[in-house]
Amino acid sequence: MKIVIIGAEAAGMSAAAKARRAAPDAEIDVYEMSRVISFGACGLPYFVGGEFDNPDYMAELSVEDFARRDIRVHTGHQALSLDPVAKRVQVRDLASGEIHVAAYDKLMIATGASELRPPLPGLTLGNVFTLRTMADGLALREAARNPAVRNVAIIGAGFIGLELAEAMVKLGKQVRLIQLADRVMPDAFDPEITSLMEDELRLHGVAVHLSESVGALQGKHAVERVVTQRGEYDCELAVLCVGVRPNTAFLDDTGIQRLANGAIVVNAYGETSLPDVYAAGDCATAPHQLTGQPTYAPLATTANKLGRLVGENMAGGRQAYPGTLASAAVRVLGLEAGRAGLGEAQARAAGFDCRTVMVKDKNHTNYVPGQTEIHVKLVYEADSLRLLGAQMIGKSGAVHRIDALAVAIASGLSARELGMLDFCYAPPFSRTWDVMNVAGNVAK
Ligand SMILES: Cc1cc2nc3c(=O)[nH]c(=O)nc-3n(C[C@H](O)[C@H](O)[C@H](O)COP(=O)(O)OP(=O)(O)OC[C@H]3O[C@@H](n4cnc5c(N)ncnc54)[C@H](O)[C@@H]3O)c2cc1C
Repeated sequence: MKIVIIGAEAAGMSAAAKARRAAPDAEIDVYEMSRVISFGACGLPYFVGGEFDNPDYMAELSVEDFARRDIRVHTGHQALSLDPVAKRVQVRDLASGEIHVAAYDKLMIATGASELRPPLPGLTLGNVFTLRTMADGLALREAARNPAVRNVAIIGAGFIGLELAEAMVKLGKQVRLIQLADRVMPDAFDPEITSLMEDELRLHGVAVHLSESVGALQGKHAVERVVTQRGEYDCELAVLCVGVRPNTAFLDDTGIQRLANGAIVVNAYGETSLPDVYAAGDCATAPHQLTGQPTYAPLATTANKLGRLVGENMAGGRQAYPGTLASAAVRVLGLEAGRAGLGEAQARAAGFDCRTVMVKDKNHTNYVPGQTEIHVKLVYEADSLRLLGAQMIGKSGAVHRIDALAVAIASGLSARELGMLDFCYAPPFSRTWDVMNVAGNVAK
């Protein structure tokens, strides 16, 4: 059995490790363009912000570690094309330029995604960054440490934009967050939650520009200003965080089924529309647990889980992924927020007749210091009250509660059942009726 994997980060290496355990005799070859493997980009904003200093923490396993498990990882090798009939991948050694062919019995595509770079004038100026790779993180961290960099423009207010806004505030910068949509994080959180994030950003001095479109970056050698339809803003550093595009262009002539954004469509087994070709991670979709639809949720959690499952299935298993709830969390300065399942607009777009409830309560008992507010939004089916989605925001205790709500959604619980769910209680942690119980009981 010959297993070939393209891409050696979260999805690819989860698959390789699991395939090795499940098929001890298989030949496993992994081809990776870059020189960094097993890298978790999730740490980058915190590395840039100085919360830890050793970049190696983000890529703990080496080529040698995998070689000891008899997994051959070929770094500096780019997959150029796939012939699904002959079951061969054409690969270029980027150092020597040599091209060779890798034959497979089972192939996994785990090529991830790259940051979107819209055709804006000025993107090649100095001190203009994106944040995706280890090299991006090292360069941005160094540039941000220069005391001459006072004003930072962050273009795009998704997860990475907000995490970087926080990092730059902590580094003492004047931060301007410029967002095309009329609110921050519109794809992940509902307006009731994002308006609290926007208040928090402003409270910490971030200039939040909504419904504003960047037309150009200007400067002599390095960036000096950002130009939008509303004005021109001085900055000595700019970061573009406007989304990602799956790295699947090399499959253009294979006929593999993809979404409009290029994400490879996979079923619950991680199989693509091509025989013996699997995919997982940021280059692929994942079935949504509630809608069953192929969903693009470029998250480390999905990449690791579907990656591992693909490894097992390539080795002869038949494990089905239960589906993504796109559960995710973010810290925005003094606030933490989490989400699981469908937002209100997503639920309606998916055809659910849904209702919502928004509740504000306290994180724990009032006589224990540190009592703060938690806001909860539930989305649920109108007739059955079945939970479809949950979002929470607060200073403390919001994100881990979302995990409980993800379990409730995955289990098909109703808001009524949530209202009586036996959550634990002691004064430092919660109240006798936890905020989740309260939200469930208010839902009608
Ligand atoms: C700044 C940042 C913060 C994040 N924070 C979080 C978070 O808090 N929580 C969360 O769940 N997710 C987070 N994510 C998302 C998470 O990092 C990704 O979902 C995850 O890394 C995807 O892993 P992957 O293996 O699918 O792809 P990638 O990590 O993109 O790896 C794909 C690899 O394939 C290689 N490759 C591409 N094309 C080819 C080719 N043709 N030939 C050979 N090799 C190729 C690339 O070089 C790359 O190394 C964050 C992402 C970023 C950038």
